[in-house]
Amino acid sequence: MIFANWKENGSIAMIEDWTYDFLKATDDELLNNVDVGIAPSYIHIQLFKDLLEKAKVMIGSQDVDYGINARTSKVSASMLKDFNVNFSIIGHSEVRNLFNDSNEIIRKKFKTLISNKIQPILCIGESENEFNAKQTLKVLENQLYSVLEGANIENCIIAYEPVWAIGTGKTPEVNLVNDIHEHIKDVVQSATTNNFLPNVIYGGSLNEGNASSFFGQTHIDGSLVGGASLNANSFVKIIKEYSKVK
Ligand code: PEP
Repeated sequence: MIFANWKENGSIAMIEDWTYDFLKATDDELLNNVDVGIAPSYIHIQLFKDLLEKAKVMIGSQDVDYGINARTSKVSASMLKDFNVNFSIIGHSEVRNLFNDSNEIIRKKFKTLISNKIQPILCIGESENEFNAKQTLKVLENQLYSVLEGANIENCIIAYEPVWAIGTGKTPEVNLVNDIHEHIKDVVQSATTNNFLPNVIYGGSLNEGNASSFFGQTHIDGSLVGGASLNANSFVKIIKEYSKVK
């Protein structure tokens, strides 16, 4: 499974060009083989849905709010549901760091997505200091338990995104990522009441050049792609690498 996180990028013209290139470079066989999702800004969701109407591509949001009514500027899970949004990214490190999303807030967002039947992609990851201090597993366990403890879930994807790898061109060793993903799966199984086994995808400076080394690992079930997804041809090359290896 390959997901694109478009962050604060995109315009009508750029999305028209991107979807044209994307549809030219993909076909039904590839899209039936690999689960592909795109998370543009809220205001571009419907445009993507219209332009990719005939393609098997999920459209998601980059965040969600946990409240209703008097919360100016926010978008609720029921609003997303109304637009048939398939998934929603929560806990991205940029949202944690720039907009102060705590684990407690992320837990509320997680719950509202589950009750509206929208698949959460829960992002977790350690900072560079935590990585250097060998705190990675402890940080991830805390992020997972505080959101998932006691949950009974059927569909949730975990995105492991080391904060120091996002948009920096730096990536961890693929073997290490594989071991971390295996650990994440164990933690999610013990945190949830139904021993849910999640797909765990990797994000952080993944591109068409390094994708296959990640996808060759047993516990890496795909990727959340930032920068490299903004070019349709690069994004499709990543999807093709995934299809070849898995
Ligand atoms: C991200 O922000 O989710 C991400 C993976 O970014 P990039 O691929 O640009 O490192």
